[in-house]
Amino acid sequence: LEWGTGPAGGFTALALREPDRTGLVDELGELTFRELHERSNALAATWKGLGVEAGDGVAIMCRNHRGFVDASIAAAKVGADLVYLNTAFAGPQLVDVLERESPALVVHDQEFTGMLARAEGVDRVLAWVDDETEVGDTPTLEQQIAAGDTADHRAPETPSRIIILTSGTTGTPKGAPRSEAGIDSAVALLSRLPLRQGWRTHIAAPLFHTWGWAHWALAMLLGSTIVLRRKFDPASCLSTVEDEGCDSLVVIPVMLQRILQLPQDELDKHDLSRVKVVAASGSALPGDLGITWMDQYGDTLYNIYGSTEVAYATVATPDDLRRAPGSAGKAPWATVVKIYDDEGREVPPGEPGRIFVGNTLLFEGYTGGGSKDMQDGLMATGDVGRFDEEGRLFVEGRDDEMIVSGGENVFPQEVEDCLARHDAVVEAAAIGVDDPEFGKRLRAFVVLSQQVDEDTLKAHVKDNLARYKVPREIVVVDELPRNATGKVLKRELAERD
Ligand code: ATP
Repeated sequence: LEWGTGPAGGFTALALREPDRTGLVDELGELTFRELHERSNALAATWKGLGVEAGDGVAIMCRNHRGFVDASIAAAKVGADLVYLNTAFAGPQLVDVLERESPALVVHDQEFTGMLARAEGVDRVLAWVDDETEVGDTPTLEQQIAAGDTADHRAPETPSRIIILTSGTTGTPKGAPRSEAGIDSAVALLSRLPLRQGWRTHIAAPLFHTWGWAHWALAMLLGSTIVLRRKFDPASCLSTVEDEGCDSLVVIPVMLQRILQLPQDELDKHDLSRVKVVAASGSALPGDLGITWMDQYGDTLYNIYGSTEVAYATVATPDDLRRAPGSAGKAPWATVVKIYDDEGREVPPGEPGRIFVGNTLLFEGYTGGGSKDMQDGLMATGDVGRFDEEGRLFVEGRDDEMIVSGGENVFPQEVEDCLARHDAVVEAAAIGVDDPEFGKRLRAFVVLSQQVDEDTLKAHVKDNLARYKVPREIVVVDELPRNATGKVLKRELAERD
């Protein structure tokens, strides 16, 4: 046996050490570490027999369930690169990504069959079958597992790469590879995020995104059990956490928001007192949302700032979120975060600048070419932020989202947070639209919980922020368009009249 890290070596170790411990729970039941190890051995053997080789790509387009995990470990055991496809990818975006990454095999849920039909010439495997009668000639994962030899697989000499795609918030999703071995550094995250060995963790965030994936990696390092559900639903999420006796919950902020929109008696019905960590990341966690969540379910909320490219940068503990609502906290051990001005000089606390991050998880450059800006060995996140006097980071928004209106700089996030603090507003998004006089003018979109007129909302912003940050137009919408990682698609809002 070859020892290693990541899905290939990590599972070999877990299967030998704790064979009968539950590694995964999903709608179909439980799988032990031994079962997960054997299933992936069998799958890897079948794939090798079909000609899949080390260095090939295996693309995975699955919701959160055993198929995602089986396919990932098997691909790592073959030494193939794992290419995770966002389950919200569609049409040309998906075709572009598949052409660029050119996987040898795509493992996907049956619901994405139609979507993938355009990817001609790529072998496909069905990971989750909703209706057996419709399977046709495409093999299922379970059939391929049944056909394979469960003997231990030698971990490949060159560890496979994990290629996670960015969310595609600003354009075509970029492939961000990193070596499987790098996940060891995830351990440093534990210096500020107190996850413990053997916990049961409900990963509600999508596994194909860095945030959800990182928690699977952490569970492998800690020998923890991951609890998965194919789709997120606010009330079911609370029931799952309770019924499965989960110690931690991994979410993107919009999930917390959707949970808190449930009727109060539904919220009160659930007892989350066993949960010691609720970890949120992937987009900004509004200060008020954090406080409301902690008032309801206790001071166990952590806000983690990171990106596909740098993995993680900072962690705000519950204490940080109480003292400095909306902050992204401080860097864990083995991570450096600095803020530079446009000339590359470090700025003092309180002043905004470009956020740079250094850790051992920085990605290797996009699969399609290009990378992020570097300075002093640190990587630009593409965001602007500032430190407060206590060294806590506040992320103000993406540097390319800054709106210059009448010569003044406005970060939409500040305006959005301010609007969302009004009692009648559920959520808000702000963009800059062309204006002959000001260059750009601010237009906000709001989802309301109760009737309120535009002037009242403008007055609310004016009472709290500088005058030039008051949106000139406020448009009421039923919901904000979001991608699968919960980010508002501002490109779509900008296309609306
Ligand atoms: P693309 O690069 O394709 O446009 P994307 O940047 O949305 O997609 P991700 O890597 O998923 O892809 O997103 C990372 C970005 O999400 C960060 O750069 C930051 O803007 C935002 N973000 C993530 N977590 C937080 C957080 N806790 N607070 C504030 N912003 C966050």
